[in-house]
Amino acid sequence: MKRLLPLLLSLCLPLFALAQEVSFDRYFSDATLRLDYVFCGDASHQTIYLQDMVRTGDWAGRRKHLGEPLLTGNGQIRVLEPETGRVLYASSFSTLFQEWQATPEADRVQRAFENCFQVPFPKIPVEVEICLMDIHNKPCATLRHPVRPDDILIRQQQDNGYQTKELAWGGSLEGAVDIVILSEGYTASQRRKFFTDAARARDALFAHEPFASRKDAFSIRAVFAPSQESGPSQPRLRQWTNTAVGSHFDTFYSDRYLTTSSMQKVYDAIGNVPFEHVIVLVNTPVYGGGGIYNNVTIMGSDHATFAPVLVHEFGHAFAGLADEYAYDSEGNDSIYPADTEPWEPNITTLRDFASKWQDLLPEGTPVPTPVDAIELQKDVRRIWHTLTPEVKASLNLKIGVYEGAGYQMEGVYRPVQECRMRINECEEFCPVCTRAINATIDYYTK
Ligand SMILES: [Zn+2]
Repeated sequence: MKRLLPLLLSLCLPLFALAQEVSFDRYFSDATLRLDYVFCGDASHQTIYLQDMVRTGDWAGRRKHLGEPLLTGNGQIRVLEPETGRVLYASSFSTLFQEWQATPEADRVQRAFENCFQVPFPKIPVEVEICLMDIHNKPCATLRHPVRPDDILIRQQQDNGYQTKELAWGGSLEGAVDIVILSEGYTASQRRKFFTDAARARDALFAHEPFASRKDAFSIRAVFAPSQESGPSQPRLRQWTNTAVGSHFDTFYSDRYLTTSSMQKVYDAIGNVPFEHVIVLVNTPVYGGGGIYNNVTIMGSDHATFAPVLVHEFGHAFAGLADEYAYDSEGNDSIYPADTEPWEPNITTLRDFASKWQDLLPEGTPVPTPVDAIELQKDVRRIWHTLTPEVKASLNLKIGVYEGAGYQMEGVYRPVQECRMRINECEEFCPVCTRAINATIDYYTK
């Protein structure tokens, strides 16, 4: 019976129910435990395996509200006190594996995906529990395993010799959001280009609100891992290149989807610097990239839309923002079912609208909210540059409950008509996304 309580507490219950302030210094050392897992399965089954454990450098994450993830996410990792089941640390995330589960290939094949996570290094023997959620925000796969801090097989991160440059300084590891930008597809002779491109990435982020006003909260470090060949692989052109972390286009047979499935290579390359968020900067002029919540942002460096797309993808990866677009052709009605409120802060199914932007909605606003006439007449993406500031402000700032978001034309709603999370042409995040980004910065720094 003594084991029953921790087991009951471990079933990925809503974490706020267990929230209680945990003393960092009592339970954790000032070091980082990297945990590598393999997520395996197909469209309907998931299994998690532990692959490796690595001790890396100073802990760059938060030291307050340790047991409370900011968002539910598509998965959670938690460090538990074995005797009581008390949550000592928790964070949430999304994965490429779960995106793949929605593809046709997952109906026919079982595949495996690498994933790496960081938790503070425990002072005492603990249990770590990692779980994946289904589209109803219910746990569908869970692995729980012990970690002993004196385990001799916890690998020690070695110096990889990669050059690092500091691009922004936001203060101590405890008080700043720590971002690392990793080179991918840059040869040894392209070192200078990488550091220039990484500085452009920093400038793109800091050119957009609310990052611009909060830039003092961010530390950004760039790590140069040389590749044998220049540029990512482009499978549709039968071009495969030998690069530091094996990035490629055509992920899930989608030509613009640039990713890497070699997360262990990514974490080995950045293992000598402290970080909480990872941007993999890929040396290519071809449009492409992606952002996965608390996992990775990956972005091609030289396309004309580099800056706005990087900021959009970082919105996914940093603040868990959903895409606010939906197009007729997509027709995927299974991602956000009507009986479940999505955990992403900037979309709603109206299942639990009070948890979203109901407090910002002007009284008397009809639900769903009709769009402005210009939205019905024109494709605003094509004429955005011709619109007056007043028209842009109406589309970007007039809060409502507009139907069509999260790839679904019906049943999913967005807060404004146009936002940085909807179209590339719109420069600004909407007020709801802005609030979510500010809340995320506060979460890491206050
Ligand atoms: Zn938005």
